[in-house]
Amino acid sequence: MARLDKDEFNEMIFSRINKLISDYDLIKEGELIAVALSGGKDSVLTLHALKAYQEFLDFDLVAISVDEGIEGYRKHGVDCAIQNARDLNVKLIQKSFLDEEGFCLDDIYSKFKSACIPCGVFRRNILNKTAYGLGASKIATGHNLDDEIQSFLMSFARGDTIKFSKFGPELDVIHPKLIPRIKPLWNTPEKDVGMWAVLNNISIHLDECPYSHLSLRSKIKEFLNISEDKYPGIKLNVMKSFNEILNFENEINTNLEECSICGEPTSSSICKACELKDLISKDCESHITNEY
Ligand code: SF4
Repeated sequence: MARLDKDEFNEMIFSRINKLISDYDLIKEGELIAVALSGGKDSVLTLHALKAYQEFLDFDLVAISVDEGIEGYRKHGVDCAIQNARDLNVKLIQKSFLDEEGFCLDDIYSKFKSACIPCGVFRRNILNKTAYGLGASKIATGHNLDDEIQSFLMSFARGDTIKFSKFGPELDVIHPKLIPRIKPLWNTPEKDVGMWAVLNNISIHLDECPYSHLSLRSKIKEFLNISEDKYPGIKLNVMKSFNEILNFENEINTNLEECSICGEPTSSSICKACELKDLISKDCESHITNEY
């Protein structure tokens, strides 16, 4: 790629995001979009990009941060979320595992093969409930191109083809209480996100989660980064291949019920969050396979 100055780079990255939003009709006029704002570079760029997109379309924005309770790690992220939401004049709703579930991730992670299992389940659950309570039409997440490829390969490696339905820049409405997700950075490489944050001196949380090295995702990420260094273009090729293979719309599981305990949407009689809370309360080791 030819060298771009800061303004040209910003133009390139925002145009790509705007085109994706427009091509896939990710946001409609009058909608309330809730941005899942961790304070990391991806969610912060998502917030900035959607704020800028309001210039072209009349819709509302709110941000939600979830503090999982990871000592020495999450607080800085929340501070960055507060800072960016304030800078952009976007209302931020702050939630935490402690307030919502009565425990921090640090208290319960050792019961699982990977801390990412309860972390992902409870974070998604809290985000969905909060966005639903706010009347949001969609939740915008900061998933970038690298995240999407990693998720695809993780599902592929596990033979978990049902998860293929979660790929693509948007997830359809499949239950009235499950707020659909959109991924405005779906085709934005992670290195571009980092470059944007550095070039524009954006306040972001850069630290690595202390539990991330335990996850399958971190191994796949490492493998992809090493491969990309040796064989440039490999990530885009993987993305292109699975775009050609998958038909997102036909794979969506529409058979969701409501959890018999909490009423949240679920594909079985009890949702994952209630299942994990039961395991935690019984103080037993989880036999759930490593999903992250
Ligand atoms: Fe949670 Fe895992 Fe991400 Fe850490 S790496 S914040 S434990 S999902």
